[in-house]
Amino acid sequence: MLNTTEVEFTQSSEDADVILINTCGFIDAAKEESINTILEAVSLKEKSHKKVIVTGCLVERYKQELEKEIPEVDEFIDLKNQTTIPQKLSIQVKPESKRIISTPKHLAYLKISEGCDHTCSFCAIPNIRGKHKSKPIEKLVEEAKYLADQGVKELNIVSQDTSYYGTDIYGKPMLFELLRKLEKVEGIKWIRLYYLYPTTVNEDFFKFIKDSQKVLPYIEMPIQHTQDHILKDMMRGYRKKKLYQILEWKEKYTPDMTIRSSVIVGYPTEKEKDFLSMLEFLKEAKFDWLGVFTYSHEEGTPAYEKHKDKIPKKEKLRRFNEVIKLQEDITYEKNFQTVGKEFEVIVDGFSEEWETLPIGRSYRSAYDIDGIIYIETTQPLKTGDIIKVKIKEVADKYDLVGEEV
Ligand code: SF4
Repeated sequence: MLNTTEVEFTQSSEDADVILINTCGFIDAAKEESINTILEAVSLKEKSHKKVIVTGCLVERYKQELEKEIPEVDEFIDLKNQTTIPQKLSIQVKPESKRIISTPKHLAYLKISEGCDHTCSFCAIPNIRGKHKSKPIEKLVEEAKYLADQGVKELNIVSQDTSYYGTDIYGKPMLFELLRKLEKVEGIKWIRLYYLYPTTVNEDFFKFIKDSQKVLPYIEMPIQHTQDHILKDMMRGYRKKKLYQILEWKEKYTPDMTIRSSVIVGYPTEKEKDFLSMLEFLKEAKFDWLGVFTYSHEEGTPAYEKHKDKIPKKEKLRRFNEVIKLQEDITYEKNFQTVGKEFEVIVDGFSEEWETLPIGRSYRSAYDIDGIIYIETTQPLKTGDIIKVKIKEVADKYDLVGEEV
């Protein structure tokens, strides 16, 4: 039996002897992407006798169907059996083994909890992942210290419901307490928050970010819709009024904060007038970045039990495209407003088109999902450097050009 120190990890499926696929399976688009990835791995296996192991949410939901449909996969392993993976590969994991960082070395994700106590009508996640389970603060601080020792400067806080952190184990939300401890970890320069739930985002939250040295004025907060009767049917637990209140707090305490949100179009009870009202709200709110999803009718969800998937795919796509078009203009305008301003920028690497041109992000952009900055400089820069950049111009729909100051 090998131990983990004798196993080498690679991001390249061509080089690997074993391809391990962690799937997502909560909406149609994610399922499709997961299946395509599995099929790609299977075709590589046919050419070069690799072992393919598939785990994650898709397996949790559809293990039997997958085993039947893609028998070329060596093992489908559901979530509760994930700890058996090393054994199946004849690897011994030493108790002191630490996590492998699969992102570029200067950033990492820190998952602070798993599962969700909400019951949003369209969402299959609570069925797959179960109730909200927070990791204790000491464990997370220990993990953050380890990551910082490995060179991580940007800590990306993720979960299914970040603003609810701690309620299950401490009896009250403990996100601020956790963040205060994480801020003290030497080496961590930036802390970025994802997946905040509007109900638990309060005034103190903006005050906290305003005073924090390391928690970036950037939040990812899916709103899903803006119309009260749809939010009610979605069982989201807040109404449009709360969204306006959040925007007021943001203006009052952290006017330069960047907000990324997401919405669903084509929910079964969404009428044209609801869609138009949502567009009006988005024009007013001017989120810096926005994800748009067409409603996906998922078995086992409350919306699936209650409604038919009434809105035709073509109509969902029309609404999707309209939101995208509107948001492109808003994002462009927001980006344009940064021209002439200076930002701290973390260097992520080099452009794919021009290999010597460094690229990076300010607090305004999350890694891999938001726009980037092309950095003009005469200095040799390294990935992970944090430098001052003055924005010169907008490069395209989402990206910027800046010069090192
Ligand atoms: S909060 Fe997010 S993960 Fe939880 S049920 Fe709602 S959409 Fe799903």
